Amino acid sequence: MKSSDVTVIGGGVIGLSIAYALARQGVHATVLDRDEFGRGASWAGAGLIPPFTERRASGPMIELRSWSAVLYREWSASLLEATGIDNGYRKSGGLDIAMTPTEERDLKTAAGRWRVEGIASERVGPGDIGRYEPSLNPELRDAYFLPDRAQIRNPRHLRALQASLFASGATLLPRTPFGGFVREGDRITGIRTEGGILACGQVVMAAGSWSGGLMREEGVELATPPLKGQVVLFRSDRPLLSRIIERGKNYLVPRDDGRVLMGATEEDAGFDTRSTPRAIRDLIDEALRLCPGLATAEVERCWAGLRPGSIDTRPYIGRVPGFSNLIVATGHKRAGIQLAPGTAELVTDLIFGREPGINLAPFAPGRAASPADDIAFRS
Ligand SMILES: Cc1cc2nc3c(=O)[nH]c(=O)nc-3n(C[C@H](O)[C@H](O)[C@H](O)COP(=O)(O)OP(=O)(O)OC[C@H]3O[C@@H](n4cnc5c(N)ncnc54)[C@H](O)[C@@H]3O)c2cc1C
Repeated sequence: MKSSDVTVIGGGVIGLSIAYALARQGVHATVLDRDEFGRGASWAGAGLIPPFTERRASGPMIELRSWSAVLYREWSASLLEATGIDNGYRKSGGLDIAMTPTEERDLKTAAGRWRVEGIASERVGPGDIGRYEPSLNPELRDAYFLPDRAQIRNPRHLRALQASLFASGATLLPRTPFGGFVREGDRITGIRTEGGILACGQVVMAAGSWSGGLMREEGVELATPPLKGQVVLFRSDRPLLSRIIERGKNYLVPRDDGRVLMGATEEDAGFDTRSTPRAIRDLIDEALRLCPGLATAEVERCWAGLRPGSIDTRPYIGRVPGFSNLIVATGHKRAGIQLAPGTAELVTDLIFGREPGINLAPFAPGRAASPADDIAFRS
């Protein structure tokens, strides 16, 4: 089999973005996935992209988030030009709302952080909400408008990444489960697959929630606990909303075509991806609470995905101790879509032996757990 400069294990948004960033620098990557590409968490996600910050970021996650948000604009335009596929990147703006006194207090705290970070936001009193979103439940206590909130359509973005990789000559191997490393001392020389051994140069583990299990078999402890998220997709004949609505951990995401996505649960349910009646009922109840007009929309589809966790709120991005050519990029939890471009650029820096654009110590695979340092945005 052909040898590749870089072999990426896992073809979700993280693995495909890494291969894309490498291809833009002329590096040939092989990406393998045990399934079709982009059918894991990346397909299931809502595609929320938070605003970028104008000021100097005050923490590693804020830095990564802001950098990625800036890159999304450029990547989306380049992907469209290269492939003709519109990934649905839209700066649709968002309204963050509070319906209880506790939520009102939390929202004010978040607004304070946005001010410090230089993120554009504008307070919208309950009486003015109809000016922004006439279909939203007017019985809310407070709301803020964030004009720079953006979104992508995940399946389209994943298709665009694959099309671009295909055109640039990357090797894409779907239905190719990773079967272990072939090692010579601290160096990985090959990847075992059902079709034989793939000779390799640098190796990137980006298999989402499954990374921890795969690494354990290689003698490396890396916790990537799955965090299940369920979603309901509505289809409405008339456009009901035009901006992303966020209430705590829940959100409504209106698409250009009248569809509205309601997400998302957070469940510790192992690797179970079934849609369950209680979660779906709760999501539908919340959707109707936020936007009563959805009561007459069609429930088009429900699904669930597994967000890859880590030991804290940060992903793992860095070289794995004990190996001379193994990098890990996973554990992005609720933010893997938004953080993918920045993550991919950082991995590319590592592969080229360059000083990474962001200090990677806070993301090191073997680190001790840290407290959350970016709680201004979630998805
Ligand atoms: C409901 C929901 C809503 C979300 N909303 C957002 C959002 O709005 N914004 C945001 O930024 N993030 C969001 N997320 C989180 C985001 O989707 C994830 O963080 C991200 O998709 C993780 O990407 P990944 O590539 O690491 O993992 P995955 O997409 O899961 O990809 C891992 C890949 O590895 C492959 N693999 C597994 N085992 C093997 C093996 N043995 N051999 C080869 N390949 C293997 C899998 O088949 C899979 O394709 C959401 C997630 C969910 C579930």
